[in-house]
Amino acid sequence: MTQSTPKGISRVLAHDSGMTSKVTIDEKECTGCGLCYEDECPAVFAEGKDGISMLQPKFQKGGVHMGEIPDDQVKCAKQAEDACPATAIKVG
Ligand code: SF4
Repeated sequence: MTQSTPKGISRVLAHDSGMTSKVTIDEKECTGCGLCYEDECPAVFAEGKDGISMLQPKFQKGGVHMGEIPDDQVKCAKQAEDACPATAIKVG
């Protein structure tokens, strides 16, 4: 994706230039324990309504519980996936 600057110069957004991985959170399974957004990976996950996890807004795509993250966030997102007691997180 490109973005036009006020001067009409198009540039490739840095976020779009690298590889990304899909992340989903099953909000029906999430218990709101907070492990992902408080401890394991607050850079990717955030506290949503009623404590249910959601993706940080900049990574959301198609809803608050799904999106894409850049490669440099995959390690921490996978740590959250492994730690989630409800197996509600899927990365990749
Ligand atoms: S670790 Fe799992 S159960 Fe806990 S808030 Fe995150 S998604 Fe929900």
